[in-house]
Amino acid sequence: MSNRREFIVQVSLGGSALVTGQAFAQGAMLAETDPQAVALGYKADTTKVDAKKYPKHAASQLCNNCALYQGKATDAAGGCPLFAGKQVAGKGWCSAWAKKG
Ligand code: SF4
Repeated sequence: MSNRREFIVQVSLGGSALVTGQAFAQGAMLAETDPQAVALGYKADTTKVDAKKYPKHAASQLCNNCALYQGKATDAAGGCPLFAGKQVAGKGWCSAWAKKG
């Protein structure tokens, strides 16, 4: 009995270490209030972008179809070189959006 218990404890500890490691590797989600995000007009939801401020923005422009997006098009979030160490939302947008080639 006691061996079995120890095994379960080890497995759950191993599991949480794995989750933490993964979160660290991917980086935290970028906050819209981050100074760099504010400077680039970043919104986690492309439909919330200020149309007056960014007249060239279109709702079809998303981080996940931006040339700079480091995630896959299907990823909910991914890296962006403009926000090092952070994750941007796949459905997000910023004024540096560039059409994927
Ligand atoms: Fe999203 Fe592209 Fe702006 Fe990065 S540069 S935040 S991927 S729109």
